[in-house]
Amino acid sequence: MVVLRPVDLVNQPAPFQDRYKILQKLLDLLEKLKPNAKGKMNKLAAGLELRVAKDSKSPQSYKFNMSVLFRDLNKFKGDLSKIKIGHKPVAHSTPIVENKATKAQAMEKLKSLVIDAETLGKNGYFVKDSIHDGDTLDENTMDFRSATCIRCNTKFEKSEIMNKTVCRYHPLKREYNRETKIYHYPCCGETMVSSSFLRLGCQSCDHHVFREETYDGMASISKFLDTRNVDGEENVLALDCEMAYTSLGYEMIRLTIVDFFTSKTLFDEIVMPIGQIIDLNSQFSGVHEIKQSESLSYEECMQKVLSPSLINKNSILIGHGLENDVNVMRIIHRRIIDTAILYSKGRFKMSLKNLAFENVNRKIQTGEHDSSEDAIASMDVVKSKIGIPIAQKEWNI
Ligand SMILES: [Zn+2]
Ligand SMILES: [Zn+2]
Repeated sequence: MVVLRPVDLVNQPAPFQDRYKILQKLLDLLEKLKPNAKGKMNKLAAGLELRVAKDSKSPQSYKFNMSVLFRDLNKFKGDLSKIKIGHKPVAHSTPIVENKATKAQAMEKLKSLVIDAETLGKNGYFVKDSIHDGDTLDENTMDFRSATCIRCNTKFEKSEIMNKTVCRYHPLKREYNRETKIYHYPCCGETMVSSSFLRLGCQSCDHHVFREETYDGMASISKFLDTRNVDGEENVLALDCEMAYTSLGYEMIRLTIVDFFTSKTLFDEIVMPIGQIIDLNSQFSGVHEIKQSESLSYEECMQKVLSPSLINKNSILIGHGLENDVNVMRIIHRRIIDTAILYSKGRFKMSLKNLAFENVNRKIQTGEHDSSEDAIASMDVVKSKIGIPIAQKEWNI
């Protein structure tokens, strides 16, 4: 017999034991309400309990929300179409796990998740025509010559970036410890109040690094390509890039594209950046070296991926924090499903690692990042969002 247990959550609203007990009670109730489906209610019970758990911020609200669910299930004799959790109807968003979806159904749901231009604009995408039409580079008002190191905050001249210097930094962002009320660096354990020299950084590099943030800054390194100029079939692609620091800033070094409907990897190549490599960021990028003979140039890469059968004006692109990827690829695209925006809570964005764990029960990014793993994870988060079986690879029209 399969033991029914609650789905692990990053933010547990109540102790596991409490959730476990309530889940068993919920299962008993469902089986009592629907005696014909006895033995088949495990998935439903776990799904409903998970919905309540995700919707509850404290043990009290969890208990309260659960009691509302029990009350409603009794009141409506188990008719799920009448039951709401957190003001949202249950029947709509409970995944139709058993039923195969058709391609048309999936497309319709996907289109409803495509993010509008205004929201894209607010999240770092360059989609409004006004940003790049008619805007000319004005070198007098914009400072393209100097940059601030994003690791150590030192200001430097870009033309001198390949001159040797010492840049001390922490590879991981500082975190606040509520108990000690002190910031610490998870990479090495140093704190901001430490007297050790390591406080300034547990790693060092011979060069500072920078990242262009503006459209003009990025365009001054390589031109943006508008996908409106690429004809092609309507397709749905999940994509993810790995990036490195070079003499020209932040550049793409690997690109993975996965097909939504077949889960096949359509493109996965190492890309030689345009500038001189400073740091491959291997700890995160998973790329340790780039051989000329085994990689594409940026231009070759873009020529291959901007095509009628890959990225074109009719593509829906899926990714997490995809603005980083499309900007580093220098493409302007308007049909985007970004799981970071989809699941954002106000200004707070969840990591793909947590989203994958909570929504598809998968642990990712346990070591170095892998653009293939990340592309598939954000794609599967979207599938679970619209109730499509993750493993489905064959589709009826
Ligand atoms: Zn550190
Ligand atoms: Zn620096």
